Amino acid sequence: MRLFLALVPPPALRWRLGALADVAQARCGGRRMPDASLHLTLAFLGEVGDKQAEELSEEIRSLAIPAGHWTLDVWGHFRRPGIVWVGGRRPDTALQELHERLWERLEAHGLPGRPSRFIPHVTLLRRAERLEADGLPDVDLEWTYNRVTLIHSINDGQTARYVPLACSRAR
Ligand code: ATP
Ligand code: MG
Repeated sequence: MRLFLALVPPPALRWRLGALADVAQARCGGRRMPDASLHLTLAFLGEVGDKQAEELSEEIRSLAIPAGHWTLDVWGHFRRPGIVWVGGRRPDTALQELHERLWERLEAHGLPGRPSRFIPHVTLLRRAERLEADGLPDVDLEWTYNRVTLIHSINDGQTARYVPLACSRAR
């Protein structure tokens, strides 16, 4: 099964990100991420066997991460896949450390795929047709988080569905 670790936005933030996705889509075209799918990927694991997925679920349930506060204040894009995202203007030390810590644990489980760099972002659009940022509103959002979610990504059609499998303990 295809898995990833993510921060899931609280409902009020999800709604505000969705509103930005609407504005971005009107400006840039492409496919808007459904509100229910908005997230920040911390670690993409790819295909994992059922037994290992169960072990990882247990591990995540027993984990408690430091609470954090992320400021989203910039638009960005990945040109080739036409991804339009929002993220932080400045590197966020807490998120970088969380990413490192999680990959240390994943590697202890024998999982490959740790990337050489991590650009925290929330994807709003896929396959955008126009990538110019003119006319996009200023972004000024705060994300307070204290849990990581292990998510199963199921693609049985056009758009992947995300099913949460396990959540870390709140601090
Ligand atoms: P689909 O690929 O079916 O269009 P999706 O991209 O929403 O749908 P996944 O590919 O399962 O679903 O990706 C889940 C999350 O992991 C997304 O945030 C995606 O950007 C990220 N991701 C996917 N592949 C990689 C990768 N190779 N490296 C880093 N992050 C990835
Ligand atoms: Mg994908």
